[in-house]
Formats: sequence, C-alpha cells, structure tokens
Amino acid sequence: MSQSDSTTPSLTKNQLLVLEALRSAGQAAGAYQLLEVLRDKGFKAPLQVYRTLNQLADRGLVHRIESLNAWMACCDDHHHGTPIFAICNDCGNVTEYLDHSLTETITALPTDTGFQPDRSIIEIYGQCSACVASS
Ligand SMILES: [Zn+2]
Ligand SMILES: [Zn+2]
Repeated sequence: MSQSDSTTPSLTKNQLLVLEALRSAGQAAGAYQLLEVLRDKGFKAPLQVYRTLNQLADRGLVHRIESLNAWMACCDDHHHGTPIFAICNDCGNVTEYLDHSLTETITALPTDTGFQPDRSIIEIYGQCSACVASS
C-alpha cells in the first residue's frame, strides 16, 4: 500500500528541532508561532521553518491543516494515509484520526479518470467535548 520506506534516513538537526517544537505545542501551530520558539535554536526566517515543515510533511511526520494555515505533528509515527482532523469551532482544538480503509476509498475515487492523487486531507468541524460541556 505505502511505498517501501523501512530505511527512512535520519532527520536533520533542523527537522528534529521543528518536529520537537510542534510536538511540544501539542496542538496545531502556525509557522510564525513555531519561529518564536525556534529563534533561540538558530532559526531566523519563516521561510526556514516553512521549508523544514514541508520536508517533514513529505515524510508523513507532520500535516498541514490548510483551512487553519497551521501545522500539526502526526499522531502516528509514520503516516501515509489521509489524515482526518476534527476541529473545534470554539476553541480551535484539533484531534487527528486515522482510517486506512477511508483513505483507500477516497484516493481511488478519481483514478478512473486517470487522476493521480498526491495527498488528501479531511476536516470535520464542530464542537469538542470540553466546549460542548461548557455551553
Ligand atoms: Zn497523521
Ligand atoms: Zn473546543
């Protein structure tokens, strides 16, 4: 199903720093937000952070949540499917879910017409349990 990547090369220092910063954020974070944390570690420009985030995304370690213009560390070690995000309208809390059969269904949809899926993402909007409880 996924490509053979059992021999994933180790991450560069910058990739590790960005991944670490995003994981410790524990939530979806923007590149500028990450830059604030990473300034001490030698990052100077948003472009540096963006470039590194894209490299990590190519390896399935982080996901871009387009509608929030934010990034999130993958809840899995290694992700090559369609990430499913439940996004709270009230507090912005984001939770990732995995469903491999859904991924296969979705990416198979356009292939009849010769379309080659590259990546896909599903966003579900609503209220998280904490916000439901307090409303
Ligand atoms: Zn993921
Ligand atoms: Zn919420």
